[in-house]
Amino acid sequence: MNIIFMGAQGSGKGTQAAIVAPRLQLEKLATGDVFRAAIAEESELGVKVKVIYDRGDLIPDELTNALVRERLERIAQQRSAGALQGTLFDGFPRTAGQAEALDDILADQGDRVDAVVEIQVPREDLIARLAGRRVCPVCGTVYHLDADPPRMQGVCDREGATLIQREDDTPDAIRRRLELYDELTAPLLAYYDARGLLHRVDGNQPIDTVTNAIIDAISREVTR
Ligand SMILES: [Zn+2]
Repeated sequence: MNIIFMGAQGSGKGTQAAIVAPRLQLEKLATGDVFRAAIAEESELGVKVKVIYDRGDLIPDELTNALVRERLERIAQQRSAGALQGTLFDGFPRTAGQAEALDDILADQGDRVDAVVEIQVPREDLIARLAGRRVCPVCGTVYHLDADPPRMQGVCDREGATLIQREDDTPDAIRRRLELYDELTAPLLAYYDARGLLHRVDGNQPIDTVTNAIIDAISREVTR
């Protein structure tokens, strides 16, 4: 079983991936983790990733795809040992090119993408969620005005420093980032939608409700 999660920053995608993966016995595959593991192992591909990381550049598709292929081969071994049901992709693929590469990799293993779940939250709600973030400039503690406020308004619980809003967290910066996300993912969503694999889940509900909706959508697809 191969499931892809999609959703903008602030949609709760990461939270849901952390809940759903163990429940369905899926191995979570996030490219950031794959990169870090390859660097730590100092594998041939890992050394290449480190050079690019150290330059501050983006990892090219070709290298990302090669690492994903390696990782999926390992997961396939664990699956044949009965320990896993499959893979949950979190943050990969990001482009239509990566999506095509993933299809090829899975086809080589006699496998395929079973379902794509997009967690949808209206733009203005995402901005409200993300713009509520406040950070302590001294100790780095992150607060949220609604979800996790400090004991005293505007002041860090630890040492009393005045909290700040990072430039990345201003509504304008968030709006620009979300627009970029839409631009990048629109072709990807269309690619999966055309194949009838795309399921949209309302992410503007309590966490448990979202989890249940996701699991329902996946089960319908897998038993079909
Ligand atoms: Zn502090």
